[in-house]
Amino acid sequence: TAALSIQGLEKVYGNGFKALKGIDLTVEQGDFFALLGPNGAGKSTILGIVSSLVQKTSGSVSIMGHDLVTDTFAAKQCLGVVPQEFNFNQFEKVYDIVITQAGYYGLTAKQVAAHAESLLKALDLWDKRDETSRMLSGGMKRRLMIARALIHKPQILILDEPTAGVDIELRRSMWEFMKRLNEEGTTIILTTHYLEEAEQLCKNIAIINNGEIVTNTSVRELLSQL
Ligand code: ADP
Ligand code: ADP
Repeated sequence: TAALSIQGLEKVYGNGFKALKGIDLTVEQGDFFALLGPNGAGKSTILGIVSSLVQKTSGSVSIMGHDLVTDTFAAKQCLGVVPQEFNFNQFEKVYDIVITQAGYYGLTAKQVAAHAESLLKALDLWDKRDETSRMLSGGMKRRLMIARALIHKPQILILDEPTAGVDIELRRSMWEFMKRLNEEGTTIILTTHYLEEAEQLCKNIAIINNGEIVTNTSVRELLSQL
């Protein structure tokens, strides 16, 4: 089973703009996959549809073999999503933000406590667990979003521009974290407009432009052609 399978995906926004013009894409389990493309290419639209935040116009999407429309809950169970913008309540405590979705995924209290502690420690946020999120630096907020996305141990982690506007030190530490997670078996899919990020981290890559895939290959192959 592929981690992510997309067929004939199209999106026409409410204003009539066609943002996706028939995307076909397969990401295998264990991959570290980059969706690369300039601003406006359609990357966030693809991730939005995959994470059920944006409604597709046509085509099909399945996650670990679960169709996103007919088997939504099972599909969502397999997925952790890190959006581009912070979207948590600034007055909520760090620990509470991390566990907030746990009920939805049906975790026991014991599992929640164990997952939350190991994630907060791995992401260097354990000491901040009782602080409200507005007290955190930008880098800590990014890491908090990753912790929250992983609370239910999803097989797939999706990140939208994870290191946009992040300083070099934090970028390196996020790269290390993602690499380790991938080595431990999590499939990772990220969007980026930095080729260097894809080069450093990813195994396979799709380049998207104007709502279409223009290249879909391994990073190694792509670099050998430059
Ligand atoms: P849908 O067609 O999926 O229902 P809409 O066209 O209703 O989406 O837009 C959803 C939201 O995105 C609206 O709040 C709209 O203001 C906003 N939006 C509109 N145009 C753009 C754009 N070019 N880029 C980003 N967001 C946009
Ligand atoms: P990327 O993530 O690659 O920067 P997006 O998926 O955000 O690209 O946007 C793809 C195209 O769709 C852009 O031209 C953008 O302006 C447009 N778009 C995004 N959201 C909306 C929306 N809600 N309504 C209309 N157009 C949108």
